[in-house]
Amino acid sequence: MKLIDMHCDTILKLMDVDEGADLMDNHCSVSIPFMKEADTKAQFFACFTYLKDFEDKDGYEGCYERVQEMIHYLKGQTHKFQEQIGLAGSFEEMQKNEAEGKISAVLTVEEGGILCDRIGRLDTLYENGIRLMTLMWNYENCIGYPNSREAAVMSRGLKPFGIEVVRRMNALGMIIDISHASDGTFWEVLKYSEKPLVASHSNCRALCKHPRNLSDNMIRSLASSGGIAGVNFYGAFLGTGNEKEADIVQADSKVDAMKAHILHMLKVGGSEFPAIGTDFDGFDAEGILEIPDVSKMERLWDALKKAGVSEDQLDLIWSGNVERVMRETLRH
Ligand SMILES: [Zn+2]
Repeated sequence: MKLIDMHCDTILKLMDVDEGADLMDNHCSVSIPFMKEADTKAQFFACFTYLKDFEDKDGYEGCYERVQEMIHYLKGQTHKFQEQIGLAGSFEEMQKNEAEGKISAVLTVEEGGILCDRIGRLDTLYENGIRLMTLMWNYENCIGYPNSREAAVMSRGLKPFGIEVVRRMNALGMIIDISHASDGTFWEVLKYSEKPLVASHSNCRALCKHPRNLSDNMIRSLASSGGIAGVNFYGAFLGTGNEKEADIVQADSKVDAMKAHILHMLKVGGSEFPAIGTDFDGFDAEGILEIPDVSKMERLWDALKKAGVSEDQLDLIWSGNVERVMRETLRH
């Protein structure tokens, strides 16, 4: 059961929190030994920057600089542990790594605000190895509007520069990620993109009424255009409480809830829709984590199998659906 996980914040944790650690030996939920246990085929690593940390450092310009450092850091790690892990910029490179017994690392950017209205930066990011970009985080940026409980924000979509970004990402062969986007942005990106979209780490709003999650209508439209969504393990996006409660209470991250979100995605979006986007190392683990790290992914596999999901179907969820989007979107 090969695994492809579309989202983790392990680079951030290794660089800022887990002092003296590296990809081999750390206190994170993602490490080379854990990935080996999980039979990871590819792990997407997000270069995430939190704008508030850069208020005195030129804002998004400072974030852009930091992303270069994060890219450099991950490349250093793949060099240091080159027997075990290699960068993959295409489906073919991922296959080659697998044939050589290596895990693939795929570089991504979370927070397109770092483009600062400069379309050429997308080309630079591509050249530096970035293959997926999450258009926004939880702030309005030069591309468009984020998820929000305020209807006035949630309904707003792409800015003119954002339309340019969608077209350029399509042309470059970069995967467009609409996790964190407003509903308005979601619908406009769907309209403008010629390639399938991903929601790399988002769950179902029908089960957990959080603005970060996808409505059934969004799931159906995303699925019918070849898109996918990765189930996020963060308790607040899994929980079944009302949306106000989800904000305050640190919900536990339970296998039963993950299972329920995947079953719902299967029901509404079909076999080729659900994938995995754990968000490991990106959320505060104050509550119970029934899957504390990537080596314990089998717990979810077993729960789904018990619920009647076939092994062929599970293979699609674990890796097949992401592989298809990589084949259709990334350049050879
Ligand atoms: Zn995120």
